[in-house]
Amino acid sequence: MINQLIAPHGGELVLNMAGENERAELQELARSLPQILVGSRQLADLEMLAIGAYSPLGGFMKRADYLGVVNDMHLANGLPWTVPITLSTTSEQAATLKEGSQVALLNEHGTLQAVMTIEEKYGYDKQHEASKVYRTTEEAHPGVNAMYQQGDILLGGPVRVVALQNQAFAQYRYAPGQSRQLFVERGWKRVVGFQTRNPVHRAHEYIQKCALETVDGLYLHPLVGDTKGDDIPAHVRMRCYEVLLENYYPTDRVILGVLPAAMRYAGPREAIFHALMRKNYGCSHFIVGRDHAGVGNYYGTYDAHHIFAEFDPARLGITPMFFDHTFFCRACDSMASSKTCPHGDDHHVTLSGTKVRQMLQAGEIPPREFSRPEVAKVLIEAMRQPVA
Ligand SMILES: [Zn+2]
Repeated sequence: MINQLIAPHGGELVLNMAGENERAELQELARSLPQILVGSRQLADLEMLAIGAYSPLGGFMKRADYLGVVNDMHLANGLPWTVPITLSTTSEQAATLKEGSQVALLNEHGTLQAVMTIEEKYGYDKQHEASKVYRTTEEAHPGVNAMYQQGDILLGGPVRVVALQNQAFAQYRYAPGQSRQLFVERGWKRVVGFQTRNPVHRAHEYIQKCALETVDGLYLHPLVGDTKGDDIPAHVRMRCYEVLLENYYPTDRVILGVLPAAMRYAGPREAIFHALMRKNYGCSHFIVGRDHAGVGNYYGTYDAHHIFAEFDPARLGITPMFFDHTFFCRACDSMASSKTCPHGDDHHVTLSGTKVRQMLQAGEIPPREFSRPEVAKVLIEAMRQPVA
């Protein structure tokens, strides 16, 4: 079969997973190396690096890439990249580590995850990173807050990943090489990726299906890494996607897979980042909605659309598909958007997130114009479960 899919970012998938023999050698070597404990976000980053989802990155960013990304949204080699992928440590620990030496990266249980060669250690300005990447220095922003809690020194250099983090949703955990293979097997060339960290309601379904009208396949690609505490848990969302696909989607034109990355809530910059990852997974197109990857009121409704204009489309490679506010309109008697419906708000079936939550908590199914009843039932059931 001829592979006509979009090329990965930078031209090829860069896999940083150690092979079997190498793993054994690294396990042995790691016994004598200094150790750094890494948190859940870095574990997610290690998996993304291992499987090629962060191509062309070969490890945690060195200073030139870090500064290029923070200040100019490009890697030192000129490729677009908008979110720093970094490993931090304390000044005390950094003082004991030499550039050119290796370090063992362990998870909280003390299990070896990766061996990293420290090519550079460098200080960085957290306030500057916050204002450039997150457009705010407020600690209340979850992405900024996570970054402020990091150590004061960054370690840059290549990693060889020995073990992957918890592999929940294993049957949906396709690496970019695997999703590409699935697309090729189905004869897809133009594939649209959909990022989500929420249940899919009618508005999202409409957007996905509008996009699917013009391409070969839809890659429904929910993020299952760290999210805010008040986002709906990944296992509940996955069940929602399953019942939705079973009942309302053409099975031969849709693939459900999971993105094991953590949310950063960097709004417009994260929209670019999300698109580049999906390019690595083989998507030629990427859906960008209103306030994509936003949180609170930090970003303008269309900032995540506008930021794409700041990039050379050829270097970005993946094509964004922008969508506006969508809803069911009783006057149109169909799904519509502010681009296609001439009627006023009073004809539109819209519910605030708070209202939907209240209804579901009370065991009420929202109007079927808003949410598929099968999806609402899954959410109601989940809310009845005692919190573990
Ligand atoms: Zn209308």
